[in-house]
Amino acid sequence: MWIKIKNLIFDILFPKTCFSCKREGDYLCQDCQALLNISGFHRPSPIQNLDDLYWACDYKNHLIGKLIRNFKYEPFVRELGKNLCSLIVAHLQLADNKPDFSEFTLIPVPLHRKRLKWRGFNQAEELAKGLTDFLKIPLLLTDLNRVKETKEGVENAFICQNLETIKGKKILLVDDFYLTGATMAECAKALRKAGAEKIIGIVVARG
Ligand SMILES: [Zn+2]
Repeated sequence: MWIKIKNLIFDILFPKTCFSCKREGDYLCQDCQALLNISGFHRPSPIQNLDDLYWACDYKNHLIGKLIRNFKYEPFVRELGKNLCSLIVAHLQLADNKPDFSEFTLIPVPLHRKRLKWRGFNQAEELAKGLTDFLKIPLLLTDLNRVKETKEGVENAFICQNLETIKGKKILLVDDFYLTGATMAECAKALRKAGAEKIIGIVVARG
């Protein structure tokens, strides 16, 4: 109840406006979303341990870059996750030669616990929550952990603490964007080490 009242007050004080056309109502209105070029592509990733990479949009698209940067840095736009997730869903509906995703388990790229506390939410987790509803597949939130906080260099930053939950699984690894692939490579390495059978990356945008 309190949360609902809080959200209502928040919506009155800070009405949602479209990041592109400034129209009130949503962070990305349907008209502007319809103008975005949603890709139907997925390609084997050039990085080791990642079997395939799915991406909905090009990060170089001005609006996409703006949405993702705001999702990352502005805690008050947590709900932007729903809009960005709908782009991934639109992409999945376009993509062909897909595996049977009902056999997969979702894992978001984790944040370090200190960073999570500071930001209040993990943007990759928000996307993964939307995807678990759409794909009707399980979501694992505590099995892959970020143990290094450093921004420079993500080498060996991730570990799987509970090997039994990962062993033999097909993993759909979720993040907001893929630029150099370094973060996803390190996550995939940790998942492979824990015995994951297949690891596919999925992001809103690829750089
Ligand atoms: Zn708009």
